[in-house]
Amino acid sequence: QADIDPEKKTIVVLGSGWASTSFLKDIDTDHYNVVVVSPRNYFLFTPLLPSCTVGTIDIRSLVEPTRFIARHKSRTVKVVEAECTHIDPETKSITVTDNSDVKGQNAVSTLSYDYLIIGVGAMSATFGIKGVEEYGCFLKEVWDAQKIRTKLMDCIETAAFPNQSPEEVDRLLHMVVVGGGPTGIEYAAELHDFLVDDLASWYPELAGKVRITLVEALPNVLPAFSKHLIEYTESTFKEQNIAIHTKTMVKEVREKEIEVKRPDGSSDTIPYGLLVWATGNTARPLIKDLMQKFPETQQVRRGLAVDDWLRLDGSEDIYALGDATATRYAPTAQVAAQQGKYLARLFKQLAVRDELEAELADAAEEEKARKDRKLRKAKDIKPFHYSHQGSLCYVGSDKAVADLPFGPGGNLATGGVATFAFWRSAYISNLFSTRNRALVITDWLKKTALGRDISRE
Ligand code: FAD
Ligand code: NAD
Repeated sequence: QADIDPEKKTIVVLGSGWASTSFLKDIDTDHYNVVVVSPRNYFLFTPLLPSCTVGTIDIRSLVEPTRFIARHKSRTVKVVEAECTHIDPETKSITVTDNSDVKGQNAVSTLSYDYLIIGVGAMSATFGIKGVEEYGCFLKEVWDAQKIRTKLMDCIETAAFPNQSPEEVDRLLHMVVVGGGPTGIEYAAELHDFLVDDLASWYPELAGKVRITLVEALPNVLPAFSKHLIEYTESTFKEQNIAIHTKTMVKEVREKEIEVKRPDGSSDTIPYGLLVWATGNTARPLIKDLMQKFPETQQVRRGLAVDDWLRLDGSEDIYALGDATATRYAPTAQVAAQQGKYLARLFKQLAVRDELEAELADAAEEEKARKDRKLRKAKDIKPFHYSHQGSLCYVGSDKAVADLPFGPGGNLATGGVATFAFWRSAYISNLFSTRNRALVITDWLKKTALGRDISRE
């Protein structure tokens, strides 16, 4: 392993999402060799991804290469574009596999670690429902947003094909979103805006026929938001002609229709042109595989169990954070980013502790008491503490909803156009780099002045 200083411990970081990138930004590379392994060589700002599905924002505006972050560290950080396919806690090594389209003679390798940081996130959940993988579109990664955009425009152009039957036009122009969590809501909202702002003038003969339906198994959408905001979202959707079918569970997905179970227990079918599947997260195979290696301590199916210091239950040298874990916190970017920052601080303290322990062994008698005091302080590592900054969700027509912490234990629930202005400014200030900020603002201005691009990519 080139660029590895044998005098220093090696931290291998898995992933380049919110958790791992936040860790990488803050980790002190003077103390450690750092190796990042991720199948995608960039960080993605997921909160604005729904805007990319209709071309409000360009995908390039939301990504920043991992090497850009690595380049700004004091010592070389090795970046390996590959998937970690196996973790061996016994030998403290991992297998990395190049699953990209272009492979060299060697596409599989092993890396050793002193500490392993697992920030591989989660996958879109399908609950084993037949046909979801084959016919549904997820919304988690860059390529998902691109696929949705292409398929949406394909449905519209196919509906405009000569002599299409009215029933087929109806089906092709029926956009169905499954899952009334923030992902499903924000996608439906963006699609509505695209329809009203752009499609109506480009396809006047079809626009009135486009329908958006959101299917949710629970009695209401946005279950994690305040009651008042749930009602506000549902009434805004009603005004926007987005149909919400609550207490409706999708049982099977077929090529052109979904089968659902209605609240009264009856079965029904809903024909669709585009199906966006946003029913939350499930653990990745790598995580499930690792859990099996710790049968005593890893029994939560949702993700990895960690202690209050983010150390994997059952292991001394593996840490996990973000959506890959099962904790009392929601799987959000906010939690993942704070955990990454915390873990970088923890590792700094561990490095100080190790240094002091080594110095103490050789210290003269009169020095020992002073160093011992410092060492006790270094060993007193505080557990992770999450500070909730609030929840935001875009609901369409330049309106957003926000649950914001207010005063001690209080909450401010607000929705509307002013909240949308807050939503925009919050996301702009949270974007990764000045380059991202400049690009997103330009995209918003471009959309306002010129409209969105309707070309199929
Ligand atoms: P991710 O960000 O998913 O990163 C995982 C990383 O691991 C990726 O780089 C991936 O390529 C890599 N990886 C995967 N498998 C492997 C492997 N085998 N080996 C190595 N690397 C691997 N949260 C909010 O707080 N606010 C929001 O507004 C918000 N909006 C969202 C909008 C959308 C559309 C989505 C999908 C999510 C949104 N979230 C939001 C949730 C947030 O994106 C996640 O909670 C967050 O991404 C979790 O961070 P993570 O680092 O754990 O995982
Ligand atoms: P989610 O878990 O929040 O919601 C998924 C929804 O799908 C649930 O309400 C569930 O009842 C429903 N569902 C599950 N199976 C179903 C079925 N068979 N038929 C019909 N409905 C079904 O998932 P998400 O929206 O993808 O969000 C994932 C995480 O990312 C959450 O923690 C969320 O807070 C976060 N996120 C936040 C934002 C934001 O803050 N603006 C945006 C997107 C995602």
